[in-house]
Amino acid sequence: MTNHLFDPLFGCHAGNTAPFLHLPGGQSLSYDDMLTASARMANVFADLGLQKGDRVAVQVQKSAPALAVYAACLRAGLVLLPLNTAYTAAELDYFLNDAEPGLVVCDPARAESITPLLPKGASLLTMDTEGGGTLTDRATAAAPDQPPLPCGPDDLAAILYTSGTTGRSKGAMLTHDNLLSNAHALVDLWRFTDKDVLLHALPIFHTHGLFVAINVSALSGAAMLFHPGFQLDAVLADLPRATVLMGVPTFYTRLLGDARFTGDLVGHMRLFVSGSAPLLAETHEQFETRTGHRILERYGMTETNMNVSNPYDAERRAGTVGFPLPGVELRITNPQTGEILPDGEIGMIEVRGPNVFKGYWRMPEKTAEELRDTGFFITGDLGQIDKDGYVAIVGRQKDLIISGGYNIYPKEIEVLLDALPGVAESAVVGVPDADFGEAVIAAIVPSPGTTPDPDALLEALRPQLARFKHPRAIHLLKELPRNTMGKVQKNLLRDQFSAQIA
Ligand code: ATP
Ligand code: MG
Repeated sequence: MTNHLFDPLFGCHAGNTAPFLHLPGGQSLSYDDMLTASARMANVFADLGLQKGDRVAVQVQKSAPALAVYAACLRAGLVLLPLNTAYTAAELDYFLNDAEPGLVVCDPARAESITPLLPKGASLLTMDTEGGGTLTDRATAAAPDQPPLPCGPDDLAAILYTSGTTGRSKGAMLTHDNLLSNAHALVDLWRFTDKDVLLHALPIFHTHGLFVAINVSALSGAAMLFHPGFQLDAVLADLPRATVLMGVPTFYTRLLGDARFTGDLVGHMRLFVSGSAPLLAETHEQFETRTGHRILERYGMTETNMNVSNPYDAERRAGTVGFPLPGVELRITNPQTGEILPDGEIGMIEVRGPNVFKGYWRMPEKTAEELRDTGFFITGDLGQIDKDGYVAIVGRQKDLIISGGYNIYPKEIEVLLDALPGVAESAVVGVPDADFGEAVIAAIVPSPGTTPDPDALLEALRPQLARFKHPRAIHLLKELPRNTMGKVQKNLLRDQFSAQIA
């Protein structure tokens, strides 16, 4: 009997002493070590009486044992539920009630506040980053083998909560084959092999760091330089050992902001991937000028894994996310009617393929709203396809501004603002307006050492934009509000600017 996802990611590496993780202290963990760690942990789960399909909620700092929990869950047919380490006890209450896990794994420091939130019958075990905690202790004492439970393509592997950028996070139900099919597509497209060394500085509670980075590495037998987070000095120090970096756009802007980041430092590397938030065309260009490399931008989301990627060999086009992955169908539709739009028009991005999730956990209505009977998922992102087939993300439908009955795409204004002298980056949002329904407000972050005059910026913008798109005001901010994945939280800007108007 086989386990659809565990076998190709971890099981097949039995006896493989090649490094899987290089850890910050200098020690390494081989593929075989990870396999044994997952067996010990799976035995602990079995002792607790956990059954196939039970959920295991995990809120711990990134570490090798934290990654072993993922492998152990797959081995034991359990459903992993990784939780953002920033969530407070009040926020956890929602996730634990919603998902009803049979086991919660948390940092020892949080055990006391989480105990009262445990669903009926659930166990609590702990794990810290130093290798301590009750789960780690029990695993050390457990037997080092445990046959993987048979699991098919449609068995659930994880419930992954969305980032909550547009509202309350939703639990996306992902199957073994959702994850495996996507990992295969990405390994092929991005040419991963067992010679690769991925610098991993992303969190492992989110699809980017967990499934894209880890599944692609494990499937290809690559090694990872496993950083606890993005710490600039540590990343700069390890880049000479890496062949690939996967990052959110802020990784790249931070690297470019440091003079130690040079073409020489990364001349030997073969690939830089960006995603989770839009990469500014300017960052793209600066990166190429500094290093000679072109960043490969791709587009995905919790519900679908990756959908679209720039090509490996052909042109990586700035401002676009490239072409649909093999096996993924993508279409642009009228958001009101669902009718398919011709290439070049802006509309809703819909995707279908083996990567698309099974629905939102215990949210049948939300699932029915966003997942069509035909299998197409309505992503909530607006985009367009250019004459060469490249897909460009225009923004989220929820961020679309409707003023005086006209649609205004914030990105169109942001791109113009970004190009003005003294503007490092910008965000445009709509705020309620008695006459027009919504009014356009812009926020800009000045380039270092400059204080641009908002009126002068407005003057410069006006000739380039139809009158109804002119921002009513431009606010100067030190930085844009971003969540852990580097996504701009436009809801916070809307609240801030609405309050200023009220
Ligand atoms: P929620 O669904 O809870 O509001 P979220 O959509 O931010 O949160 P994720 O699933 O983490 O949660 O993020 C997916 C979204 O990230 C996509 O729908 C898209 O808006 C954005 N995104 C991902 N990659 C890119 C990219 N390369 N360019 C622009 N946007 C991107
Ligand atoms: Mg979303």
